[in-house]
Amino acid sequence: MGKLATKVALITGAASGIGRASALKFADEGGAIMCADLDDEGAARTAAMIQQEGGKAASLGLDVTSAGATIAALESTVSEFGGLQIMFNNAGVGGGDLDWDTIINVNLKGVAEALQYGAPFLAEHGGGAIINTSSIAGLVGLVGAPPAEDDDIGLELQPGAGAYVASKHGVAGLTKQYAIAFGAMGVRVNAISPGYIETPMTAEMRDTPEGEEFLIALHPMGRLGQPEEIAAVAAFLASDEASFVNGIVMPVDGGYTAR
Ligand code: NAP
Repeated sequence: MGKLATKVALITGAASGIGRASALKFADEGGAIMCADLDDEGAARTAAMIQQEGGKAASLGLDVTSAGATIAALESTVSEFGGLQIMFNNAGVGGGDLDWDTIINVNLKGVAEALQYGAPFLAEHGGGAIINTSSIAGLVGLVGAPPAEDDDIGLELQPGAGAYVASKHGVAGLTKQYAIAFGAMGVRVNAISPGYIETPMTAEMRDTPEGEEFLIALHPMGRLGQPEEIAAVAAFLASDEASFVNGIVMPVDGGYTAR
């Protein structure tokens, strides 16, 4: 029997990358999965992939910047599957050219509201586990490749980098606070801090051999991560095997933050 048999999970960002890999892994471990994403068609494709393998899944379109939509997603998941024990607050946007408000609204406010409404909801429904996706940028600042000739500034000075780092440090802080607040109510709250993972989010940075080599060199293991390597840790944190794990912000980064 899989480690998530009898569990129901709501996963955001489930249309792509880490979220999709996690939806597939959680389902493989026996969970029923509500795949949620701004990209509703992509979320439906993830659900269809699970169903094709004989797993249980449904999908919905969700913008995590809307608290009302988050509350509706919690209720829809219970209506669909009869309960809810796992929330994986994973949806996010990269730094790049995005402005402060967009990055903070999705990456930080989205997670803050998911916790504000999701943690008491799980407690009322018998307890469970919440996992948030932070980042190495939730533990340390980012370093970037030297600017290309046509760029004015390197990554370190781009406003998007500061906003991304602030948002992910915020997710780490929220994780600890909610772990303290809800631990005694049967809800564990943990975060994962991935290194650079090969997903659409990092595709542009990996676009040139120089860009990819720069990123690889940041990781002592000498390679980038795969979304399945984050999904495996998320499945562990979501499962009863992690029954005394609460309030950690766990690097899954090939040693990036070890130096
Ligand atoms: P991804 O492949 O781009 O997937 C992110 C998903 O989130 C996309 O489907 C995206 O939809 C969705 N999304 C964006 N804004 C949303 C919103 N407001 N409401 C609901 N869904 C929204 O990226 P990923 O690499 O899997 O990233 C997943 C998480 O890991 C993010 O929180 C990211 O910050 C974090 N992370 C990633 C890395 C990495 O190297 N990849 C490293 C550390 C942390 P659209 O495509 O429609 O925008």
